[in-house]
Amino acid sequence: MPGEELHQDLRAGVRDLCKAFSDTYWRELDVQRAYPEAFVKALTDAGYLAALIPEAYGGSGLGVTEASIILEEVNRSGGNAGACHAQMYTMGTLLRHGSDAQKRAYLPKIASGALRLQAFGVSEPTIGSDTTQMKTFASRKGDTYVIRGQKVWISRAEHSDLLLLVVRTTPIEQVKKRTEGLSILLVDLREAVGRGLTIRPIRTMMNHATTELFFDDLKVPADTLVGEEGKGFRYLIDGLNAERILIAAECVGDGRWFIERAARYAKERVVFGRPIGQNQGIQFPIARAHVNVEAADLMRVRAADLFDRGEPCGAEANMAKLLAADASWEAANVAVQTYGGFGFAEEYDIERKFRETRLYQVAPISTNLILAFMAEHVLGLPRSY
Ligand SMILES: Cc1cc2nc3c(=O)[nH]c(=O)nc-3n(C[C@H](O)[C@H](O)[C@H](O)COP(=O)(O)OP(=O)(O)OC[C@H]3O[C@@H](n4cnc5c(N)ncnc54)[C@H](O)[C@@H]3O)c2cc1C
Repeated sequence: MPGEELHQDLRAGVRDLCKAFSDTYWRELDVQRAYPEAFVKALTDAGYLAALIPEAYGGSGLGVTEASIILEEVNRSGGNAGACHAQMYTMGTLLRHGSDAQKRAYLPKIASGALRLQAFGVSEPTIGSDTTQMKTFASRKGDTYVIRGQKVWISRAEHSDLLLLVVRTTPIEQVKKRTEGLSILLVDLREAVGRGLTIRPIRTMMNHATTELFFDDLKVPADTLVGEEGKGFRYLIDGLNAERILIAAECVGDGRWFIERAARYAKERVVFGRPIGQNQGIQFPIARAHVNVEAADLMRVRAADLFDRGEPCGAEANMAKLLAADASWEAANVAVQTYGGFGFAEEYDIERKFRETRLYQVAPISTNLILAFMAEHVLGLPRSY
């Protein structure tokens, strides 16, 4: 199917699926901080979360461009793809660096949804963005690894069968470069919980199913190692561009949702005898937010296209994430202002989406760290961190 036609079909299909999950559905889950199980099941059953898995392993073999359209449409419909976006891309590390046996064992089941691999364990409480300083350590003992340490902000761990875990396997003092000595393990959470792994939920300002993980001498088989021991940092970096592009698309979806809602409300709400949207003080900020979302979308499309062609796209993926997160946040703010007091009322959903889209200024990488990357790697400025 030619690209444009496929994209329109995907948009229409996801929109249609999302119609069954109304604003009320998302609002009630938000109040309860409950997982959108029915939505995730529907998206999985329709095959959308297997977009990036090659056909040989039961997926649809699509590119990041198409995957990003799927996630954008979820957010554009008022939903939150953050509940399951990682099921799409976490398997990329396994696909690119896993053994044939691992790929055959896991990918078809991830594609069908029989297994969920949507937990990715990098962040730790004491190191912040300085990832190579991570303390969680896996010692090789015969044919097992014994894991000790702690992770924080590990999202969806309670709704995942597998966890892609980044650990140190060589102490930082014993490596030449601090990026060496990190490894990636594919941990079966069904085996691990209660046998050395404790998962503790963290309640956050939005419904994100995030958790803390405590590893207390958890033993996992040595064949859970993905790729070569010590090369984990490189594998980690490989996956980040796809994640940034996909999250940029979610932000574009959020931005378009805010602008649609704000424009609609501005036409309907009559104050001082005329629609508030007739005032330039209301219509200009909405128009500006629209301009910024559409500009961010161009960078997202460009980054996704480069990624799908196999060309370098680090700068574009980072720029797309920064521009789209800024644009969705601006649109969120504008929507609250347009709705006035009702922007704060749960029943209009603006405040919920406002809280949800705020995350993308901080995670999966904070705006400052993107700027630091651009300054150093694109502009050749001295490294600031
Ligand atoms: C809801 C949620 C879900 C998440 N899900 C996951 C997940 O599933 N898996 C996972 O591994 N992680 C996850 N994260 C963690 C997320 O990736 C981090 O929060 C993010 O990368 C920022 O790291 P930090 O919180 O440690 O902030 P810090 O590194 O402590 O930074 C704090 C602030 O200081 C700034 N800063 C730090 N260093 C510099 C510098 N050198 N120059 C300028 N500014 C600087 C940062 O930009 C930030 O604004 C999640 C976080 C949240 C909140």
